[in-house]
Amino acid sequence: MNDVILNMKNIHKEFPGVKALQGVNFDLKRGEVHALLGENGAGKSTLIKVLAGIYIPEQGEVVVNGESHIMRNVADSQAHGISVIHQELCLVPYLSIAENIFLGRERTAGVFINKAKEAEEATALLKSLGLDFNPNTLVGELSIAQQQMVEIAKALSVKSDILVMDEPTASLTDKETEVLFEVIRDLKAKGKGIIYISHRMSELFEITDRVTIMRDGQYVGTVNTRETTRDKLIAMMVGRELTQLYVRDEPKPGKVVLEVKDLVDAPMVNGVSFSLREGEIVGMSGLVGAGRSETAHCIFGISEAKGGEILIDGKPVKIHNVREAMQNGIAMVPEDRKAEGLVLINSVGYNLTLTVLHEIFKGRPLGDAKHEREQIERYIKELAIKTPSPEQLAENLSGGNQQKIVIAKWLATEPKVLILDEPTRGVDVGARAEIYGFMNALAQRGVAILMISSDLPEILNMSDRVLVMYQGRVMANLGKHELSQELIMHYATGVSD
Ligand code: ADP
Ligand code: MG
Repeated sequence: MNDVILNMKNIHKEFPGVKALQGVNFDLKRGEVHALLGENGAGKSTLIKVLAGIYIPEQGEVVVNGESHIMRNVADSQAHGISVIHQELCLVPYLSIAENIFLGRERTAGVFINKAKEAEEATALLKSLGLDFNPNTLVGELSIAQQQMVEIAKALSVKSDILVMDEPTASLTDKETEVLFEVIRDLKAKGKGIIYISHRMSELFEITDRVTIMRDGQYVGTVNTRETTRDKLIAMMVGRELTQLYVRDEPKPGKVVLEVKDLVDAPMVNGVSFSLREGEIVGMSGLVGAGRSETAHCIFGISEAKGGEILIDGKPVKIHNVREAMQNGIAMVPEDRKAEGLVLINSVGYNLTLTVLHEIFKGRPLGDAKHEREQIERYIKELAIKTPSPEQLAENLSGGNQQKIVIAKWLATEPKVLILDEPTRGVDVGARAEIYGFMNALAQRGVAILMISSDLPEILNMSDRVLVMYQGRVMANLGKHELSQELIMHYATGVSD
């Protein structure tokens, strides 16, 4: 008996300017959970969309139950026993849970939709997932995690042999994840094949039998979960041994460049005081709502402080807007790079030169194309930004590479003070190491860095000292030698001595 129910061979898929899949192989056996692992942009979702009939590959073969067949559309894929829970939720908010589950496959009684039967089946499905929702609830009223569970119920309602889950636990709590794992074990026992996509390493060891690793659209290899380790998987994922994630050389702090005294911008900023020296990386820790980003916004001129003082090189300055902050040598990489930092629908090159356009265009009606080109190429190289060309649209790059563009864009202004707000949120491990290396190099060149971060390991490993904020004030200024997770949490939760 042949156990292999799916075999994808040498799959190629290109988008304009991006080779998303270049010869990827993947096979699935009955009763197995097979993970697809790779950094953001590796091509995992694209491979799944080829299987789901959403994209037609330019090359390659898909064998389902012994028959070679490229899926022409979603219905075709479903007819072959394939059911997919996509990364992006595809539910209709103004329809009920039951209506969503049976959309396009309505249970009928004569010419009518059999609402009672749909509700009954939906209730049973939800129950198997540990949920007791009323199936008539509108999906738009559910939380994202609940919607995710409905999406899973919908996929289970199609009696399929192959079930694909693209990052199903991204918005689930630990408890919901456990329920999902129970369901997966049950499906496995029933002989279904499950393709499981996640970048949470611990989950892979808990639930999968095999792991196939992809990198930059290429097939790296397939391993048995029991015979591998976390480090081996990471090495295959990023293409090298990540011996060191955090990079911080001995700091050489110079003179004070930025001094903030009693900064006020109610209600979030209530008298913030601290200073930054040349060549320092200073972490800024605190819980959500402590006023960290708001403080940074005042310094960078995104909002105007209502009270207090900002001094640059010992001289008081007035910062009413971002342009004045930049003129004072301040740069900032915002928390939400999509909303604030990047113009996604423009090219990589355009984004890289956004902050220095005034310089490039200085006195020249058509700009200095050569200078611009040189700048762009220099930053793409220096930051190892993975892009097929400077003309590629920013939105087609992975999170890590987008973040590198935002950083590069500000470096072009050669700042004295660089504020990074959650610099590695949503950035995968390879790009994170590069960003840390880069922060270290900048600090060694004398730039003063303020790193706002909710990632405690990042705060502990990258900071020369740490400011802890609580309710709009700096509660503590902790030196490297005294840093600990407990001490930071102690001040962040407002427990004062
Ligand atoms: P993953 O799921 O592993 O994060 P994706 O399959 O989403 O990766 O993306 C692989 C690559 O293909 C990325 O470079 C991504 O930007 C690009 N890509 C994905 N979908 C499209 C599309 N519809 N048009 C253009 N490029 C795309
Ligand atoms: Mg994806």
